[in-house]
Amino acid sequence: MRQSIVAGNWKMNATSRFAVDLAQQVSLHAKNLDNVEVILCPPSVYISTVQQQAEHVKVAAQNVHFEESGAYTGELSVSMLQDVGCEYVLVGHSERRASFSETNELVARKVAAIIKKSLVPILCVGESLAQRKSGKAFEIVKQQVLSALTALDLAGKDVVVAYEPIWAIGTGETASPAQAQEMHAYIRAVIARQISENVANKTRILYGGSVNALTASMLFSQPDIDGGLIGGASLKVEDFKIICSAAAK
Ligand code: PEP
Repeated sequence: MRQSIVAGNWKMNATSRFAVDLAQQVSLHAKNLDNVEVILCPPSVYISTVQQQAEHVKVAAQNVHFEESGAYTGELSVSMLQDVGCEYVLVGHSERRASFSETNELVARKVAAIIKKSLVPILCVGESLAQRKSGKAFEIVKQQVLSALTALDLAGKDVVVAYEPIWAIGTGETASPAQAQEMHAYIRAVIARQISENVANKTRILYGGSVNALTASMLFSQPDIDGGLIGGASLKVEDFKIICSAAAK
C-alpha cells in the first residue's frame, strides 16, 4: 500500500509572513490526516521558516545543483538542503526545462545527486500539447522517466514521479481522471519492465496540472494516482486543505 502525497509547489511566490501563516495552517490540518504525506515546496529562502513552523509537514526544495560544492554562484547543493531540513527535491519541473534549458541529461545528474544523499527526488515529467496531439506523449514521458532513473541503484531508495502534462500546468485545464490514469499506469509499467517490479510497486506517481478542490477527489481515486503536485491551489489555504483531505481518504 503506497502512502499518498500532496505536495504544494509555491513557485516564486510568498513573503516570510505568508510562509509562516500558510505553513502553520497546513500543518495543523495535516496533523489530523492519516495516510497522506503533506509536503510544501517554498522558495528556498523560506525553507527554514516552513521547516520550523510546520511540524506535521515535510519540506521540499524546488531545485538543486548536482555538484556538492564549488564555484556555482547562486546555486544550492543537496547537502545544504538536507542541512536545513529538506527531505524532498523537485527536479525537472517543466518550467525549469522550458525557462532554464534543463535537459533530460541535466535532470538525471540532479536525480543521481539527490539519491546519493538519500533525499527523495520528485521527478517531474510530462508532454506538451503539440506532443500529445502528434501521438508522442507516451514516448516523451518514457524517455524522461528512463533517462533519469535507469542508471541508478534504487535498492532501498525512494523515488517519486510527478506526471504533469505541460498543457495542464497553470492553464485551468486538468487532464481527465481517465487520461491521467492511463499515463500513470504506463509510467508504472515502464518502470516495472525497465527497472524492477519492486521499484514500480513502491514508486509514488503524483498527478499535477491545475488540480483544485473540486477535481482532486476524482483524480486521486484512480488506482495509479498516488496524490498530487499542486501549484496555484497550494497558495489558497482552504483549497489546499481540501486537496490534502481528498488524498487522505
Ligand atoms: C505545478 O507547477 O507543478 C503545477 C501543477 O501548477 P498548477 O497546479 O498551478 O497547474
